[in-house]
Amino acid sequence: MLIDTHCHIQFKPLSDDVNGVIERAKKEGVNKLIVVGCDLESSKKAVDLAEKYDNIFAVVGIHPQDSKKLTDQMWNELCELATHKKVVAIGETGLDYFKEYSPKDTQKTVFKKHIKLALELDKPLVIHNRDADEDSLSILNELGAKKVVFHCYSSDVTFARKVWMSGYMTSFTGNITYPNAQNLRDVIEECPLSAMMVETDCPYLSPQKYRGGTNEPSYVVEVAKQISCTKNMSFSEVAEVTTKNAEGFFRIGG
Ligand SMILES: [Zn+2]
Repeated sequence: MLIDTHCHIQFKPLSDDVNGVIERAKKEGVNKLIVVGCDLESSKKAVDLAEKYDNIFAVVGIHPQDSKKLTDQMWNELCELATHKKVVAIGETGLDYFKEYSPKDTQKTVFKKHIKLALELDKPLVIHNRDADEDSLSILNELGAKKVVFHCYSSDVTFARKVWMSGYMTSFTGNITYPNAQNLRDVIEECPLSAMMVETDCPYLSPQKYRGGTNEPSYVVEVAKQISCTKNMSFSEVAEVTTKNAEGFFRIGG
């Protein structure tokens, strides 16, 4: 069994065929899905899906690139939503200095709000970090965040060591299967088993085998296969370890 710990099946075209997406995932042994919001609208949709399907759990938050659009009213609604029993984490939040659609200061302010909310509700944080390694980590450390995953880990191995030293998790997507992604496979080689989770980030980042097409939760199998190959472990061992980690991290065991 595998868990896709980060997907956006509330986005098109996946949202047009949610039953099919879930069925194809189950057929591949992908039995639980964590559906992540990027703004208020997609966070609400994630919760709707979690209410409808037993094996779906929601994460709610405002993506750093949308942080400049956040109003007090939206934040209040998000905080309300975050208390829902099937909301298992806060995110995706963090910093994105690559595109910088929102000014850095605004991103930091909104990021801190998310961290405080997560601490208040005792829920973990799902972090989007792009070209903002040092700031992301120091803000998390400063505010005392304990349960954190760096989703779609795409930084180097030196930074990964700092993430693991803080007791935080790293989660890997289909981009680890790309021919030019040796740097990420180097991270995986060193990644402690206890700090590793798998995800698709679908509909984005299709693994190499399906590149060019729409990504979906069933393809998380390709991510686990790559890890098994890189770490020289059996596929079932990778599945077992990453599932156990995800169940513990998001408290969705049993
Ligand atoms: Zn995402």
